[in-house]
Amino acid sequence: MFHITAAQIRLGATPGTKMEALAQVGQLLVDSGCVDAGYIASMNRREAVANTYLGKGIAIPHGVPEDRGLVKQTGLAVLQVPAGVAWNASESAKFIVGIAAASDEHIDALRRLTRVLGDDALVASLISTTDPAYVIAVLTDERPPTAPLDPAPLAQAPDDAGFTMIIREPVGFHVRPASLFVESAQRFQSAISVTYNGQSADAKSLISLLQLGVPSGALIRVVAQGPDAAEAHATLESVLYQAFVAPAAALSAETATAALNWAPRTASATFSGVSASPGLASGPIRQYDRQTIVVTDQPSEPMREGARFDAALHAAQAELDTIYDEVKTHLGSDKAAIFRAHAAFLSDMGIIQQTVSRIFAGHSAAWSWQEVIAERVRQIETLDDPVLAGRAVDLSDVGQRVLRHLTGAKGQPDLTGSTPTILVATDLTPSDTAALDPALLLGLCTAHGGPTSHTAIIARSMGIPALVGMGDAILAIAEGSQAILDGFAGALYLDPAPADIQEAQRLQAELRQQRDIAYSSRFVAAQTADGHHIEVGANINRASAAAEAVEVGAEGVGLMRTEFLFLERTSAPSEDEQFVAYRDMARALGGRPLTIRTLDIGGDKEILYLNLPKEDNAFLGIRGIRLCLARPDLFLPQLRAIYRASSYGAIRIMFPMIATLQELRQAKRIAEQVQRELHAGPVPLGIMVEIPSAAMMAEEFAEEADFFSIGTNDLTQYALAMDRLHPQLAKQSDALHPAVLRLVERVAQAANQAGKPVGVCGNLASDPLGARILAGMRVSELSMTIPSIPTMKALLRGHTLAEMEELARKAVRCRTVEEVRALA
Ligand code: PEP
Ligand code: MG
Repeated sequence: MFHITAAQIRLGATPGTKMEALAQVGQLLVDSGCVDAGYIASMNRREAVANTYLGKGIAIPHGVPEDRGLVKQTGLAVLQVPAGVAWNASESAKFIVGIAAASDEHIDALRRLTRVLGDDALVASLISTTDPAYVIAVLTDERPPTAPLDPAPLAQAPDDAGFTMIIREPVGFHVRPASLFVESAQRFQSAISVTYNGQSADAKSLISLLQLGVPSGALIRVVAQGPDAAEAHATLESVLYQAFVAPAAALSAETATAALNWAPRTASATFSGVSASPGLASGPIRQYDRQTIVVTDQPSEPMREGARFDAALHAAQAELDTIYDEVKTHLGSDKAAIFRAHAAFLSDMGIIQQTVSRIFAGHSAAWSWQEVIAERVRQIETLDDPVLAGRAVDLSDVGQRVLRHLTGAKGQPDLTGSTPTILVATDLTPSDTAALDPALLLGLCTAHGGPTSHTAIIARSMGIPALVGMGDAILAIAEGSQAILDGFAGALYLDPAPADIQEAQRLQAELRQQRDIAYSSRFVAAQTADGHHIEVGANINRASAAAEAVEVGAEGVGLMRTEFLFLERTSAPSEDEQFVAYRDMARALGGRPLTIRTLDIGGDKEILYLNLPKEDNAFLGIRGIRLCLARPDLFLPQLRAIYRASSYGAIRIMFPMIATLQELRQAKRIAEQVQRELHAGPVPLGIMVEIPSAAMMAEEFAEEADFFSIGTNDLTQYALAMDRLHPQLAKQSDALHPAVLRLVERVAQAANQAGKPVGVCGNLASDPLGARILAGMRVSELSMTIPSIPTMKALLRGHTLAEMEELARKAVRCRTVEEVRALA
């Protein structure tokens, strides 16, 4: 409720100019203790950017939002100017209402004034009255309380009949955005209504709209009816978005930056790790010590041991089926798939045969199984391959499950306890993570594991901050120690000061809130504040993820990593199997682009059944396109499957790890040959730019490739000569290094000059600073993990292209990563 007394009203005033009128009405607010003296200047600043003239001789000057701190008390002041004072070129103000409001209350005042505006006789009496009490009565006359929001009309409106939007602006639907909205609405022939709280207003009338008194946080519905209704919906949704949601998104960039640069003032110790899932968490440490079962050989009669082995395998199988169903319900079928893979180990004939032959050589079932599993795990570990290291963890996990049944040992100790904690463990097996209770888990830290480990994937899908590869020192942290886990900076701080904990919690809450805001507007395009559209796509690994990508607002798939179709199985997927997967993805995307990357495997990403020779220098060996070209038995069925699926959607083929023009030419020749054989239509053929040679030759590649997608993960690894999975180099292997940025800029320029699309599908695309720099370099598409999409779209909408271009110019001129990060 606003406050007005006779002392705040001056009748019969005669200011000579608008500035004088502002000074007089402002002074009334100052004298009545509503505002500090600086508010008058703030009112003048507001007039420079917005017209506060309402109509019919009434103006409502007020300060700019940044000066809300100058407001001491919500209130109004009235300057009555019966002869009028020139307000703008053609407007003369006669009843000037100065408003001091620190929050939404001024919406209430506006609502009352707009009601007055609808009544000509009332306006005339206010301009001529000589009685301040009359003015007070008119302005404070209570109107019956409005009915609570009735969601029924909104819920009943069919989807195509308009749109709804939550008004996020701190001061509600105020004059400036309302007049912009009305101006846009007036350009359409359709009749357009805005509904709030069960009341409707004409979207083409400012007065009608302001009379609704829409406060911050309100849900409004806009419905156009007429020949250009669809166009009106699209335009008005964008106008409202820019006015009400984008400012909140810009805030999200600020919060994200604050969170990225955050560090506590005090800590008794700091442990570093590799960030596996972003975010901040604070709370007590809980150490999880997995009990490993080790057995000695105590054989009985072989037939009995054999029967016990068989029973244990069945019991483990039944348990895995239950876990699969539970994880599928809570985290989705793709996260549950790992337990299907575990079950596959139980029917692996090689493992079973070796165990049985040991049993019949006179050993116990438990000891035999333990030996066989240990031998397999050792074999896999010697391959020194991060993807396969994950499989070794899986095999040990299954091994322990069967051993539990063979020995009658109890299950694992309770993982999460009864109060929320930051869990610390050597590593977590998929079985451990399936038993995690998200409600009791603040964050995760593991001594071993890398960013591609199962722990990391689960933590990301649960939205829980996590660090991996922290080293064994974290296992010595005392149980119950207070800590802050910083999933952005990759650090765990012990014993932070209470003020640090409070600050971390505040940032955490803000990040959560802004994630919610971004999610609610995930289908709005990533159009910058100055109207430049940046396509935001998803990086996916399996067919079912295409629908998930659409659901979070992805405008297509910028990278489908097909090697995942080849993992967790014992032979390569057939052409038909691949065709079904690609076709299903294309269908789920409903015409949105699907960029399928041909097999990027070999070297470090080995798959046992492919029998690839061991490489001395895995990252520089036969991998990516080199393997595709060397193995037509893999490349041809994949290309055939893609061309067959291409009639189901907008498919593009992308070749990985291209280093030379010859490789591209050879890959294109083979693809075009497959296309001819299948009588298929043409499919754009593009390349991953992730090797410095390709970046340096971008101009030449742009003449021969249909599109570029920059793989900043590998580009950073090769440009800086730092293994991308090396736990000690993780911090320095930063894609924001100016050397990497200069390569990216070069590629973007070459593509733009040649008129070819250029995207980025490495992790830099989902870094809040990286994304802005990339957009400023005129990259046309950013492709990223599914959970990042809503936030990154919101972030891009909160900036102008001009601003991001300037940021990019500064970033490439920097000398160190630290200098680049300081631009955030
Ligand atoms: C990259 O290298 O940046 C990329 C996106 O490919 P991947 O991470 O699959 O190697
Ligand atoms: Mg790569």
